[in-house]
Amino acid sequence: MSFTATVFTLFPEMFPGPLGHALSGKALQTGQWACDAVNIRDYTENKHNKVDEVPYGGGAGLVMSAQPIDAALDAHAGKPGRLVLMTPRGRPMDQALCRELATEPGVRILCGRYEGIDQRLIDKHEPLEVSVGDYVLSGGEVGALVMLDAIIRLLPGVMGNDLSGTDESFEGGLLEYPHYTRPAEWQGRTVPSVLLSGNHEAIARWRADKAIEITTARRPDLLDTEQAAVDETVSKERKRP
Ligand code: SAM
Repeated sequence: MSFTATVFTLFPEMFPGPLGHALSGKALQTGQWACDAVNIRDYTENKHNKVDEVPYGGGAGLVMSAQPIDAALDAHAGKPGRLVLMTPRGRPMDQALCRELATEPGVRILCGRYEGIDQRLIDKHEPLEVSVGDYVLSGGEVGALVMLDAIIRLLPGVMGNDLSGTDESFEGGLLEYPHYTRPAEWQGRTVPSVLLSGNHEAIARWRADKAIEITTARRPDLLDTEQAAVDETVSKERKRP
């Protein structure tokens, strides 16, 4: 069954954009997912199709009005999937969330612009608020593209070798080990000899050690999270009668 991405935006021409190429582009062509970009401006009820207003209380910038977004969401209420709002105030996006969303029939993504969206619209629709990182983008569209890219490659059958989705960074709480390809020597640099040994057990051990080494050096927070999850499971097990 196909996964449907419905994106609510002031810039529908930005979709599928880069997702129309390579892996996600091929999956789009073969119908493994569908992309519907809805122009919020088409749902305004004012003469000049205005989608923003000055903020109450003063301050810089403009705020997206509730009315056209509400009407756009209502007009597409039949579209499948959770409503996600792109916002720097949201929960950080991660592989676990993308994997979860990839099991659903689709996702509806609301992209903000300007200073953001009238809070009453957010309170009414209660979207899952998601951030793509601790920085401020000029709009939610690039964040939506990032999220969709991460979801689409996880859809069943999209990656040629389905194993490549489970054996990479963030799956299992670690960053991935380094990769090497032909030739065995390049500009005087050689490939670690274990990878040429044909000893699959030794290769698996080397890769596991490297993944732990890289994660410890670069993202010790991932190991802490993994350890916390293990501790929680052990403590639950101990409490069982
Ligand atoms: N005034 C807002 C603030 O300080 O939180 C930033 C608004 S930003 C210029 C415009 C829009 O870009 C936001 O409404 C949101 O949709 C999107 N955006 C910006 N940074 C984002 C991030 N880190 N993750 C997800 N969306 C983001």
